[in-house]
Amino acid sequence: MKQVSLKIKNVSKVFKDFKGREVRAVDDISFEVNPGEFVTLLGPSGCGKTTTLRMIAGFEKPTSGMILINDVNVVEIPPWKRDTAMVFQSYGLFPHMNVAENIAYGLKMRKVPKEEIEKRVKAILKVVGLEGFEERPPSSLSGGQQQRVALARALVVEPSVLLFDEPLSNLDVLLREQMRVEIKRIQKEVGITAIYVTHDRTEALTLSDKIVLMKGGKIEQIGTPEEIYEKPVSKFAAEFMGKINFFPIDVVEFQPDKTVVKLKNAVYEIPSVPTKRSEKYVLGCRPEGLKLSKEGPVKGIITTIVYLGNFSEYYIQTDYGEVMVKVLPPFDKNLTEGREVFIEVIPEIAKIIPES
Ligand code: ATP
Repeated sequence: MKQVSLKIKNVSKVFKDFKGREVRAVDDISFEVNPGEFVTLLGPSGCGKTTTLRMIAGFEKPTSGMILINDVNVVEIPPWKRDTAMVFQSYGLFPHMNVAENIAYGLKMRKVPKEEIEKRVKAILKVVGLEGFEERPPSSLSGGQQQRVALARALVVEPSVLLFDEPLSNLDVLLREQMRVEIKRIQKEVGITAIYVTHDRTEALTLSDKIVLMKGGKIEQIGTPEEIYEKPVSKFAAEFMGKINFFPIDVVEFQPDKTVVKLKNAVYEIPSVPTKRSEKYVLGCRPEGLKLSKEGPVKGIITTIVYLGNFSEYYIQTDYGEVMVKVLPPFDKNLTEGREVFIEVIPEIAKIIPES
């Protein structure tokens, strides 16, 4: 399989809405994808992910900017000459063709000899774990199997870049988890450069080498899953990656590798520095980064306890709004709904986040 790089350089896309007003769907974005890398475009509905993917595929032309595949600008090249293949949410299989015919379709269009087609279809069915399914019509397959056929059909033409448009949205939770692992395995096995669009942070965290987090047509943050989860550049990035509680703080001192902050009367040494300078900061604490205690800077009343087996979620009403704390067993029998508690910060995993 060919391994190519992809560069998105200052790309914008402006649409006209039905009243003729301009909608800036993608606003001057730039990012790079290394050969063989799995990059996810993640963000809320309407942030421009799909438009970006469609521009890479060639279904939309950028209003400005460049898209470089192996350093060749492809914006003027039509989709079918672009050496990309897309896996859609809706599978897009031909119902009147069997599995083998569906997969062979792209090769037939490219006038690949019959014996070669048979060989490649057989090989790719093995990769996606569907050996023996050649004769089956798509209607007789489960959603997950149909998505594997769609993946095989995209892979068999040996594209340089594989594009995924929310491919798992139509599958139930269990199957989605299985397919996530499968997609990752197959992408690494084949070694293809891949771009994956999703609004599901778990998918992004588990699949990606790199996440491009988007908001309002712009890039909010680019980084590995760990970087974005551990070092969010903004409240938006922190919240998008998972439940987090924010507390207002005063910064006492920035040191080279730590920040001293004050939350009410408590002083904490946070072993990190903010990713970006700002006038004001908040302390970001994930539910696992707080603990209930007999003392602590934040006082509150337990409103709800959600028992989840191996841990419980405690919802606590405080002066800073509702705070969620993850508590591991053994659970303190005295901490019942309606009781007063104090919340203590675990500084080692707290984050300093620019307020704006
Ligand atoms: P979703 O997760 O809901 O698919 P998205 O992040 O993929 O969202 P896009 O589909 O890229 O977002 O849309 C970005 C913005 O561009 C939205 O405001 C959308 O309404 C607008 N848009 C997309 N396509 C068109 C079009 N063909 N004409 C006009 N506006 C469009």
